[in-house]
Amino acid sequence: MASTLTLVTGAGGFIGGHLVKALLAKGHAVRAVDQKAKDQWWQLHPEAESLQLDLRYLENCHKACKGVNYVYNLAADMGGMGFIETHKAECMLSVLVSTHVLLAAKEAGAQRYFYSSSACVYAADKQTSAAVTPLKESDAYPAMPEDGYGWEKLFSERMCRHFRDDYGITTRVARFHNVYGPNGTWTGGREKAPAAICRKVATAALTGRLELEVWGDGNQTRSFTYIDDCVKGTLMLTRSDFGEPLNIGSSELVTINQLVDIVEEIAGISVDRKYNLGAPTGVRGRNSDNTLILEQFEWEPSTRLADGLEKNYRWVFDQVAANLRKA
Ligand code: NAD
Repeated sequence: MASTLTLVTGAGGFIGGHLVKALLAKGHAVRAVDQKAKDQWWQLHPEAESLQLDLRYLENCHKACKGVNYVYNLAADMGGMGFIETHKAECMLSVLVSTHVLLAAKEAGAQRYFYSSSACVYAADKQTSAAVTPLKESDAYPAMPEDGYGWEKLFSERMCRHFRDDYGITTRVARFHNVYGPNGTWTGGREKAPAAICRKVATAALTGRLELEVWGDGNQTRSFTYIDDCVKGTLMLTRSDFGEPLNIGSSELVTINQLVDIVEEIAGISVDRKYNLGAPTGVRGRNSDNTLILEQFEWEPSTRLADGLEKNYRWVFDQVAANLRKA
C-alpha cells in the first residue's frame, strides 16, 4: 500500500482534511497540498507530506503530481451562498486549478483522478420550488447552473470526461450536496448554512442574547450531507468502475427553519428569529435523488441530520467559546 502515493489537493480545507485523515487510516502514503500557510489548515497530519503550493500554476501542479498514483482534486475557491453569489469571477478562476491539476495528473501517469463537483451544477429552472423534486444526475442538462461557481464546476466535470475519452486517464466525478461537520469554515463569510446556524445559536447560548438572523424567509429547502458520508462516498466512487458524475448527498430535505429548530433543540434554547429577506439564498429548493448511487453501490449518505448537527454544533460551540474568551 505504501508504494502507492495519493495526492489530495485542498487538503488544508474542510473536506480535504477529513479525506487525508481517512486515507492515512487506510495505510496510504499521502501528499497533502494547499495554497494556505500550514498554520491555517483545518487539519495538519504529520504522517502526510504536506506542501504549500498555489495550484493555479502549472509548474506547481507538476510538483504536486510527481510520482502520484491517485489524485483527489478538491482545491477550489469556494464558500456558502454569501461568498459564491458575490465572488463569481473568483469562483470561475478555480478553472485554472481544475485544468492544471488534471493536466499534470495525466502527464504524471496517475491511474485515477477524482474531481469534487457540486450540486450547484444543476439547472436553476428545476429548483424553483421549496417542494423540489430531488435532482437526478441528468438534471444538469440542458445547462443552467449556478452562475459563476456552478459553471466552473460543470465545465471541469466535462473536462474530466474528455480527458478520460481522449487521453485515457480514469476520472471520477462526485456532485457533493452541502457537506457539513467539524473542522471546517464556521465564520468569516465563506461558511455554509449549517455552520452559520450553529455559530449563531452557540453565540446566543453563550451570550444570553437570544436572537438570530435567518437569511431569506427560512422556507427554502436543502439537504445536508455529513462529512463522514461524504468521505466514504468519495473513496467508494474513486475505487469503483463507475465513470459518470454521481450525486453524493443526503436526501433528508429540510427547510432552513427546520435546520434552526434542530440546532435549537441540541443547544436547549429557543431564539427569536429575524428574517433578512435581502440576504443571498440561492435556489428555492434542492435535494439529492439517490437512485443512481443506490443502484451502483447499494449505499447512500444516511447520517441523520440531527445526529450530524449534534457533532457539528459541539465543535462550533467550542470555537465560539474560545473566541469569546479571547475578545
Ligand atoms: P474549503 O474551502 O474548506 O477547501 C478548499 C481548499 O482549497 C481551501 O483550503 C483552499 O485554500 C484550497 N485552495 C483554493 N485555491 C487553491 C489553489 N489555487 N491552490 C491550492 N489550494 C487551493 O472547501 P471544502 O468545503 O473542503 O470543499 C472542497 C471541494 O468540494 C471544493 O472543490 C468544493 O467546491 C467542493 N464542494 C464542497 C461542498 C461543501 O458543501 N463543502 C459542496 C459541493 C462541492
